[in-house]
Amino acid sequence: MNFPSPNNNHHQPPSPQQPQSHRSPTLLLHICCAPCGGGCVERLLDAGRSVRLFYSNSNIGSNEEFDRRLESVRKLAEIFHVELEVDPYDHAAWREFVRGLEDEPERGARCTRCFEFSLRRTAERARELGMHFATTLTVSPHKSSSVLFEVGGRIAHDCFEPIDFKKRDGFKRGREIARQYGFYLQNFCGCEFSFR
Ligand code: SF4
Repeated sequence: MNFPSPNNNHHQPPSPQQPQSHRSPTLLLHICCAPCGGGCVERLLDAGRSVRLFYSNSNIGSNEEFDRRLESVRKLAEIFHVELEVDPYDHAAWREFVRGLEDEPERGARCTRCFEFSLRRTAERARELGMHFATTLTVSPHKSSSVLFEVGGRIAHDCFEPIDFKKRDGFKRGREIARQYGFYLQNFCGCEFSFR
């Protein structure tokens, strides 16, 4: 299925004539969901970065929900002409990683540990690929960018880029793109402890 580009002047692949020195290195972008990811991808491409998406979301409470979010992420990748890699779903490993923090409130210690789980997996892949990485999680008003920066810097100071996608209405732009393309808009964060 083909989708029209969100903006006419965006998202063309680099010209083959473009000198190598002017090409931006590809960023591995950890993506949590399409509504959060759209504004982030658009901003990076507008800034001349190449982007490869990494859907790593073993925190999601069920396989069905993981697949539902992934379906919209696939659409997003197609719309923006970016590569997408899917990290296999392993919720059992995530549960083990957050063990003892199940009763923590949202934005508490379980969430910090949850960020660490996904960012560790993204960092590992980024190192294999020789890339830097960032995360779309910083776009959400429900997630602290400073906590995410602390986690990313602690586990991967060599390859983590602390990009705050919240700035310049990043969340609002993501929602606009999501509505434009009919992405699935979930109403809970993801794990079984965040169902409302
Ligand atoms: S509420 Fe969200 S950030 Fe917190 S542990 Fe659950 S999935 Fe992770």
